[in-house]
Amino acid sequence: MATRMLPLVLGAAAPPTGALPGGALALPQIAAGVPARGGAAPPESPPAVRAGGRLIDSYGRTIRDLRISITDRCNFRCIYCMEPDVRFAPRESLLTVPEIVRIAAIAESLGVCKVRLTGGEPTLRPDLASIIAGIRRETAVEIAMITNGSLLSREALAEWKAAGLTRLTVSIDSLRPERFARLTRSTSSPADVLAGVEAALNLNLTPLKLNAVLLRGVNDDEAADLAALARRPSVEMRFIEYMPLDSGHTWDGSTWVSAAETRAAIEARFPLAACDDDDPRSTAQTFAFADGSPGRVGFIAPVSSPFCGACSRLRVTADGKVRPCLFSTTEWDIRPLLRGGAADREIREFLIDATWTKQAGHGIRSPEFRQPARPMSAIGG
Ligand code: SAM
Ligand code: SF4
Repeated sequence: MATRMLPLVLGAAAPPTGALPGGALALPQIAAGVPARGGAAPPESPPAVRAGGRLIDSYGRTIRDLRISITDRCNFRCIYCMEPDVRFAPRESLLTVPEIVRIAAIAESLGVCKVRLTGGEPTLRPDLASIIAGIRRETAVEIAMITNGSLLSREALAEWKAAGLTRLTVSIDSLRPERFARLTRSTSSPADVLAGVEAALNLNLTPLKLNAVLLRGVNDDEAADLAALARRPSVEMRFIEYMPLDSGHTWDGSTWVSAAETRAAIEARFPLAACDDDDPRSTAQTFAFADGSPGRVGFIAPVSSPFCGACSRLRVTADGKVRPCLFSTTEWDIRPLLRGGAADREIREFLIDATWTKQAGHGIRSPEFRQPARPMSAIGG
């Protein structure tokens, strides 16, 4: 029988939190020479894994979805994400357009079929259209982007769509202007975001997803109002449980609102019917409106029901650190290779090796859980 050994994981020693598929290979344990954190290259994965030319981890999960943070900057300071005085990476450390495009192209050659641009706020990158166009030119992957929706003019959206953007997710946490301003600590408004949503729908950037994070005592009374935004064709409103990824490290387990609670609040107004067509790799469990209205509601429940066992994601931070998990406490620095004249083969092996180190699960609710130093805005959600 094949033996599977745990990779060297410097993060929470959490047990697998989902049904992890068994590996078919007899996998040697990764050498116990502890790699330095940050700035380091991952330890070599087994030769059979490297030769396989796919991004698989030591638990048998395959990476299909690459999330690239293209900036850690943001024009919002959402209270669950960024403290007002959050420090940003030096500009020169941010990946350039050719570097981002190169990573996307090499990832595609390793089986990635979707690239999601994120941040920080990706629309703050003045060269966003060039990033999208470059990825489109070099790959056939689906190109998605997630944004706070504050800078979605019709012209900008049309330019990004023409460049190759296929999908958009827009975050909106409140429909009440004053609350929105307090929550996002911005001068933007729900009306600005919803105008951008309309423009995106008019340009057929669909299906369009909306994201909200509910916080107890802050906006948890808006679940049904937000769900109502999705009662139209090609829109899905998704509720994400608040995770310990805030830059202030203030998550203490008292303010997150569970998917079950959110669903119950929505169902008090709009009964829901489970959809049976969820992609097993999807982070969301989706529902239709039982009264037959178009649109969908989704729940992303990393805290109450972790989906790590089906994870198909790999992340690259704005400054070029490859993170196998949102909650990784180890990350691998690909920038020295990109800027040091490395061949594609070396970048490929780096990505394969980094993926191999993906931890089993995040263990948010385990006593051993340690919040990663990097906040969501620096990792890319
Ligand atoms: N700025 C863009 C936005 O807000 O959509 C893209 C980056 S943001 C980090 C991506 C997503 O992560 C957003 O939907 C945001 O609500 C979510 N997010 C940020 N911090 C979070 C946290 N601590 N827990 C759960 N979701 C979080
Ligand atoms: Fe900015 Fe998005 Fe974080 Fe809000 S959630 S502070 S918009 S990166």
